[in-house]
Amino acid sequence: MKKIIIIISIIAISAAIILPITLHKNQASAVYYVHEIGDDQFITDNDPNLHIYISYPKIGIENIDNEISNWANALSQNTSANVELNVQYNSYKISDRFISIEEIIYENGPNLDDITQSVKIFNVDTISQKLISNNEILDSENSKVLDLLKKKIEKNNKNIDKNLLNSINKDWLNNIILTKSGVKVILPDYTSINLSKKELGKSYLLNNLPITSPAPAPANNAPTPTSAPVSNEIFLDDAPQGAMVALTFDDGPTEYTKQILATLKQYNAKATFCVLGNRVEANADIIKEMDAQGCQVIGHSWDHKLLTKLSSDAIRKDMQNTNAAIKKVIGKDPIMFRAPYGEVNDAVSTIAWEMNMSLVNWNVDTNDWRSKNANTVYNYIIAHVQNNSIILSHDIFKSTADAMAQVIPELTQKGYKLVTVSELLGDTTPGKVYRVKK
Ligand code: ZN
Repeated sequence: MKKIIIIISIIAISAAIILPITLHKNQASAVYYVHEIGDDQFITDNDPNLHIYISYPKIGIENIDNEISNWANALSQNTSANVELNVQYNSYKISDRFISIEEIIYENGPNLDDITQSVKIFNVDTISQKLISNNEILDSENSKVLDLLKKKIEKNNKNIDKNLLNSINKDWLNNIILTKSGVKVILPDYTSINLSKKELGKSYLLNNLPITSPAPAPANNAPTPTSAPVSNEIFLDDAPQGAMVALTFDDGPTEYTKQILATLKQYNAKATFCVLGNRVEANADIIKEMDAQGCQVIGHSWDHKLLTKLSSDAIRKDMQNTNAAIKKVIGKDPIMFRAPYGEVNDAVSTIAWEMNMSLVNWNVDTNDWRSKNANTVYNYIIAHVQNNSIILSHDIFKSTADAMAQVIPELTQKGYKLVTVSELLGDTTPGKVYRVKK
């Protein structure tokens, strides 16, 4: 147990240093958890260094308990070996009918910089025996809710960054927990704000929730589908397997991009282009062509600065300008972003979350910039490709464009469907980093 306390106090101290945004002062380091309901369950490994500790409640409603334990199991299985995971929960009996469970996830990588916090919330209707969705709790379409949240954040912290506060949007209501007085909203920096039923008025919808009959018990003992793991990272190795490959091209567009697009078109193949914002306007025709061919266009920063060295404001400006340039050409908001060098910290992740984007890295790195040789790139890809490969290369080299003239037909012939990253990954979660295990 001692270890847990140490981990938490390190988090509290370093959170003050590393969190990109501090909405109000970190609470005192005394961390305790409320268990008003449920029997304590836990998952741990037998590692003396306490690599994994996940606790969660069993509340006695079978389908909900399955959902929670499946979530916990998935989380434990998706944690990489060099990460310490410590998950604690609060459970509250809100009324005779409603329960809320807040799982608080601390992940502690090999370096202090790697500490991340996230939450997973289960709001439960014990009569219908269902989880309650956020839009059954709050009318998030009503601008009054965001206005109220904004006002209360401002009141809690007079020194709040006005730009940050003005960036407030519906996504800030993604994590809400039922409380006895109303709701607790978990903010992007994992601090929280309480909104009372009284303050929310008609925007508080929970009292309108109809009672529907409980879902019938499954006929056999079929396991409930596993819910998505919650962590800041999702490992590409764990993605569903299919004979799909996503080619990705960074740092363009350039004159060589046209050659790649022509090859893709010839084989009815798709790819993803991770473009630099400052190259978009001058190459608008190429970007339109990418979109017209069904390729995915996402941002890769304005001019390839290492974002993790910038302030939150500078990161936000960079990512927003890059997306705005793309949207101006193809009329769509990119739903993913590739960080330069694949480097992501809490600030980048938080801003991606604000902008409703996931962060996508790769699992096959051609190192095409090093060899600048078409045969080397081709041989590397053919030797390393497998189902669900996301292949990194750069459309700024003629050698890479030449390699693709061999790679694209060869992969097609091997039975791989060449798809965009979104087609390969399906729906992704904003703010999460999709990458290979380190
Ligand atoms: Zn790059």
